[in-house]
Amino acid sequence: MSQSLIAPIDKEIKLADFDPNYKGGYKRKRDVEGKLRKIINKIIELQELLYSENNNALLLVLQAMDAGGKDGTIKHVMGAVNPQGCDVKNFKVPSAEETAHDFLWRYHMAAPRKGKIVIFNRSYYEDVLVVRVHNLVPKSVWGKRYQHINDFEQMLVENGTTILKFYLHISKDEQKKRFEDRLNRADKHWKFSDADLREREYWDQYMEAFETVLNKCNTKIAPWHIVPANNKWYRDLVIGKTVVTALEKLKMKYPEPERDFSDIEIKD
Ligand code: ADP
Repeated sequence: MSQSLIAPIDKEIKLADFDPNYKGGYKRKRDVEGKLRKIINKIIELQELLYSENNNALLLVLQAMDAGGKDGTIKHVMGAVNPQGCDVKNFKVPSAEETAHDFLWRYHMAAPRKGKIVIFNRSYYEDVLVVRVHNLVPKSVWGKRYQHINDFEQMLVENGTTILKFYLHISKDEQKKRFEDRLNRADKHWKFSDADLREREYWDQYMEAFETVLNKCNTKIAPWHIVPANNKWYRDLVIGKTVVTALEKLKMKYPEPERDFSDIEIKD
């Protein structure tokens, strides 16, 4: 059975209806390697067009449970893009300065200008995820943020930003495997933290918080993509394809030269 990638807008989303193991009919990584290479080359080409045309911006929002694959997605799907045109912004616990502003301030400052791609590795959605799960602010405060987020996204879209939101959907078992892998490999120890284990205990509360996000902040202009992410290669394939489709939709063109070049002669 095929599984929708875009979360439906008109019916209640239950994460249990989305299989994190789904592979779109493919069996193994080898089946998609060639396709992924082509997709990445296309992204490189389209990014150059975006940069030269300087008219649109692209914001990728990545959200997931710990070990969900945000870092891997950035490395494997976007890693070959010209670094001049693409920034990655990681959002951690807000600083005192950031907390002194409204919750969207630090994200707005980091949003892409025209011509650029920006990847949010975590985002303003943390302000209704970790903040909600751990009661970091009262419900009367975080409860209003879904609407603030929808309004913020609408404003960015109306200003020429395409927003692609990806929830990397892994199972609790897959997270366990990935944590174990981090513990068993010396080159991955640096990725392991006790905090990740503490957060794992809140799995169910996070799932509930994610479901609310997927239901309240899933709009026509900025829909959520629920990416089956237990298989890294399938995750990369669908995210890559989505980026290509979104950039192609912009119907970008290289800017016309400012004048006729035919009389220019480059002297020896
Ligand atoms: P990552 O897991 O993204 O690689 P870290 O391990 O440094 O990076 O985790 C960043 C931490 O910052 C996470 O625990 C996350 O919950 C927290 N964080 C991010 N945004 C916020 C926020 N708005 N409020 C509180 N904590 C946040």
